[in-house]
Amino acid sequence: MKTLSKILVANRGEIACRVFATARRLGIATVAIYSDADANALHVKHADESVAIGGVTAAESYLQIDKVIQACKKTGADAVHPGYGFLSEQPDFPKQLEAAGITFIGPSPDAIQAMGDKITSKKLSADAGVNTVPGYMGIIENAEHCQTIADEIGYPVMIKASAGGGGKGMRIAWNANEVVEGFERSASEAKSSFGDDRIFVEKFITDPRHIEIQVLADKHGNCIYLGERECSIQRRNQKVIEEAPSPFLDEATRTAMGEQAVALSKAVNYSSAGTVEFIVDRDKNFYFLEMNTRLQVEHPVTELITGVDLVEQMINVAAGQPLSLTQKDVVLDGWAMESRLYAEDPKRNFLPSIGRLVRYRPPSTDTTGDTIVRCDTGVEEGSEISMYYDPMIAKLCTWNTTRAAAIDDMCDALDKFELDGVGNNLQFLSAIMQHERFRAGRLTTAFIDEEYPDGFSDTDPPAELLKRFIVTAAALSQVNEGFYRQGKNRMLSAESQADSVVVRVSRTNYPVVVKTLDEGFEILSAGESNDQPVILTTEWLPGQQVAEVTINGQTSAFQVFKHATGFELWHAGYQLKAQVLSERKAQLASLMLEKVPQDMSKYLLCPMPGLIVALNVKEGDKVEAGQPLAVVEAMKMENVLQAQKSGVVAKLPVSVGDSLQVDEVIMEFE
Ligand code: ADP
Ligand code: ADP
Ligand code: MG
Repeated sequence: MKTLSKILVANRGEIACRVFATARRLGIATVAIYSDADANALHVKHADESVAIGGVTAAESYLQIDKVIQACKKTGADAVHPGYGFLSEQPDFPKQLEAAGITFIGPSPDAIQAMGDKITSKKLSADAGVNTVPGYMGIIENAEHCQTIADEIGYPVMIKASAGGGGKGMRIAWNANEVVEGFERSASEAKSSFGDDRIFVEKFITDPRHIEIQVLADKHGNCIYLGERECSIQRRNQKVIEEAPSPFLDEATRTAMGEQAVALSKAVNYSSAGTVEFIVDRDKNFYFLEMNTRLQVEHPVTELITGVDLVEQMINVAAGQPLSLTQKDVVLDGWAMESRLYAEDPKRNFLPSIGRLVRYRPPSTDTTGDTIVRCDTGVEEGSEISMYYDPMIAKLCTWNTTRAAAIDDMCDALDKFELDGVGNNLQFLSAIMQHERFRAGRLTTAFIDEEYPDGFSDTDPPAELLKRFIVTAAALSQVNEGFYRQGKNRMLSAESQADSVVVRVSRTNYPVVVKTLDEGFEILSAGESNDQPVILTTEWLPGQQVAEVTINGQTSAFQVFKHATGFELWHAGYQLKAQVLSERKAQLASLMLEKVPQDMSKYLLCPMPGLIVALNVKEGDKVEAGQPLAVVEAMKMENVLQAQKSGVVAKLPVSVGDSLQVDEVIMEFE
């Protein structure tokens, strides 16, 4: 049996860091590779050695097999872990590694090849007795052909790229008209992302759940499954929140899915860790979607409920060892949640954001009582989120004995996640965690579309929560003033006093009386005569971004951003601006007019930095609401920009191929 002594990770970001951590624990040396854009990246610092491979885009850097092999030779690395994405599912990669005498930590090229193609893998699954989605198991030639097949299957249908992955290259069509556009976009996205535009069509299962099975197999014919993960919370077919186990499965369905996943794995002589994805309808019928022949992004939730380190298992299997556990050793314990933190702005239709993380302090990976918090991250304070790679910043996981407790832990961990400088979905994740339907486990892949049909925007918190915001703002303001008074004259701060102030939130004034106690504050909301004062304590100091606040014995965290006359507070998925004013100033504030933002509806602005890949109209064209106007590519996604209302294109200052900045004018209407 060979042993691996030095592992190179042909990847970047959090997954490179993740693999290094296990290698280090096992006493195996580590090597990072990095592109020009990643010279200062965290994964480089987490490896024993690193090799610059040049290039900036994925194609110039992390997708270059030659450069990876050269880096192995240069450093003497005897094995490569591919992470996910990039080269992880390219059969050529393990083939070339093998030819160079380097061990690939993953399955055989044949298994990757068979499963990497959605059409082939679907046929293979059907042969192995696995349930598959009804549809056409062939290649679609063109848009007309697509329409004919879709008519036969019956709407809605899912148009998919055979080479697809990461939610790219797929579109739903609800009727014949949508098929043409869907076919073209899928094919074009597939061509640019995977260099392969073969398309197939299958029935779109409505209101489904995405539930996947983790498998683990060795090179001696042993194969086991490690339970399931539910990944139904998705946006644009891209996972956002995952959990294990699934709140939907019963033991019988779990076993049936597990056994089918194992049967499929055995049919392709699978070895290493892999994931068989299923779509499950409301009657618990399940259908094979695809097999991912690699470590999955959301593998931590499985690790948290099974106690198995999947990377360690992959390393052992690659070294030729038999699996150290059997099916009956797999015990699912407790509940784990994962939130994917993306650099995207949920309030701007989830458009990707880029920039520098001027503040970045995730909650630390820790165990307290029953709670486990795990944060897998590939960035640090000061890191740049570039437009060249994946927009995922971190994966935040929590574990507890029950689902409800794991969710509560996640809420708290999200509230304590300090991040500034790059648009992100923290607040959105938090809102989902608070959502009653999510907490009840009534999930489908349409959850986000159904619950946030107009996107995610600021809403007012329920009354009880609003009150917590108000008293927190009042107390923080008091701490703030005390802090500066203290600087000038320590005497003044010692005296206990009652201040009448007004907390102004969304143009409403909430008068409160704040009394400074020896420890903390007593706060009485005026106007409600039967109201009991609230006792609030906090150790917060001005300049800190997270305030842990105990209100009548209940502790929670608020994110605090100081403004001239108050604070912006984030908590539980709500973001509130609270001004704290004297009574006189509050009266005057009520008389002020709100600033009206400039009307930009005459312009189509570029919503993110990106490349114009298509312009569907020209100057003088009449457009109708909903009509596609332009396609902008950013972070590997093609975004179709549609007309918001009908009008005539007056000016079109850009051309296909132009690189635009955020808010640059793409076209102007009359
Ligand atoms: P699934 O493949 O089922 O979506 P995961 O969410 O685990 O499962 O993985 C997503 C895959 O797509 C990963 O391999 C990831 O690296 C890749 N991916 C995600 N976003 C991008 C991107 N912007 N560019 C290239 N690859 C991406
Ligand atoms: P990818 O390789 O991009 O991960 P998948 O085939 O795994 O592609 O599909 C990604 C997601 O798209 C699934 O998790 C599911 O939400 C949705 N999806 C895919 N196929 C179907 C289908 N036939 N019916 C309904 N939803 C589907
Ligand atoms: Mg998938």
